[in-house]
Amino acid sequence: MRIAVVGAGMAAARFAERHGALGGEGAVTLYGAEPRAPYNRVLLAEVLAGRYETESIALPLGAARARPGCEVVALDPAARTLRLADGSEEEWDELVLATGANPVLPPVRGLRRPDGRGLAEGVHTLRTLEDGARLAEEAVGAKRAVVIGGGVLGVSAARALAALGVRTEIVHQGPYLVERHLDAEAAAVLRERLRALGVDCYPGNRARAVHGDPRVEAVELANGYRLDCDLVVLACGTRPRTALAHAAGLAVATGVLVDDRLEAAPHVHAIGDCAEHRGAVPGLAAPAWDQADVLARRLSGADPGARYPGWRPRARLSTGGLEYAAFGTVEEGPGLDVLRLTDATRGSYKKLVLRGDRLVGAILLGDLAAVDALAGAFAADGAVTGHPLHLLTGTGTGIGIGTGTGTLGAAMTGDAR
Ligand SMILES: Cc1cc2nc3c(=O)[nH]c(=O)nc-3n(C[C@H](O)[C@H](O)[C@H](O)COP(=O)(O)OP(=O)(O)OC[C@H]3O[C@@H](n4cnc5c(N)ncnc54)[C@H](O)[C@@H]3O)c2cc1C
Repeated sequence: MRIAVVGAGMAAARFAERHGALGGEGAVTLYGAEPRAPYNRVLLAEVLAGRYETESIALPLGAARARPGCEVVALDPAARTLRLADGSEEEWDELVLATGANPVLPPVRGLRRPDGRGLAEGVHTLRTLEDGARLAEEAVGAKRAVVIGGGVLGVSAARALAALGVRTEIVHQGPYLVERHLDAEAAAVLRERLRALGVDCYPGNRARAVHGDPRVEAVELANGYRLDCDLVVLACGTRPRTALAHAAGLAVATGVLVDDRLEAAPHVHAIGDCAEHRGAVPGLAAPAWDQADVLARRLSGADPGARYPGWRPRARLSTGGLEYAAFGTVEEGPGLDVLRLTDATRGSYKKLVLRGDRLVGAILLGDLAAVDALAGAFAADGAVTGHPLHLLTGTGTGIGIGTGTGTLGAAMTGDAR
């Protein structure tokens, strides 16, 4: 059997490695547009900060063959062929689309060069190692950077630039940092940690224009305030790369539509950032790998009936000095109980959200010692045995936890480890 994987990123590599490890037969080929073999994209900011070498973030592929620098430009699902940029055609029996996502360019004046070709000098996105290398080169002479967007990527990029000695500011349109994963209190702790690392944040602010000709000199906010800078990083989210699938006649909404078998059409599958399953397009590494695992079980024959159960919100950031993990529903609401531990001195924040004796959400920020226990409870459909505080501390401190709605053990100060 010939399995062609379009894209050689994180989902593709995971699929290839698992397929091989499960004893899958046949030839797996990864066609990648980037000039290098798959690597761990989550660690890009760490490479930028100089904490990892490029080589050390390579991902294992098992026996699969990677073909870097091979962009796929057309698919024919009926004939089961694909065409490469050099005009050659390849045949396949099963196709896996793992084309990832592109950075979203926000509606900010002056982002592009006057001739419309590419971004203005000093304006960057951060999606590939090549992006990171260009940014690192310019960061050497830079004094001030503005990161537009305060989600996972914006926070990682800002942290990396600060580590390189560049004074960095984050402009974030949302009400607080990383509002997709954190609550307002966790975001406030994160903001303090960033400040200590040399990064200032302006949530609730929109960038309106980038000034400078030919090179960026300042970012203008919607309130008229100007932030002088010589570097701008755009971190405003991603959009699934679906053009190839769309042109091939596959169903596309935000992402390539797949069912529980991760099938977009007979013998055509999609996983990772490019795929949309039950309306979800998480754009995160964990669901990309979960999908890759399910598809590897199916196509290797280890479990031909494997189904992807759907994404349950789960996010993790690990970047020098800033770590968090968030699971499920982290906002409070009717019928939910909340247990919260805050340690302002250590810059840690922990929160459990429970419905009765079931865990529905959690945040760990700054101290991830309990992350495995929480992940386990969450994976076990939230069933909590014993006192929920154990999940945060691993100890048996007797904090009274009532039942019903409300904030329980509210905003305790002090770490209970
Ligand atoms: C700097 C940074 C930090 C991040 N941090 C986190 C984090 O802390 N936590 C987290 O969960 N997620 C994080 N992410 C997101 C995570 O990296 C993605 O969710 C993950 O990479 C998705 O894997 P993927 O294989 O779907 O896409 P990708 O890894 O993007 O791989 C897609 C590949 O397909 C290639 N491709 C596209 N079209 C074609 C074509 N036509 N022909 C050939 N090749 C093609 C692309 O060039 C690319 O190499 C981060 C992302 C970035 C950029």
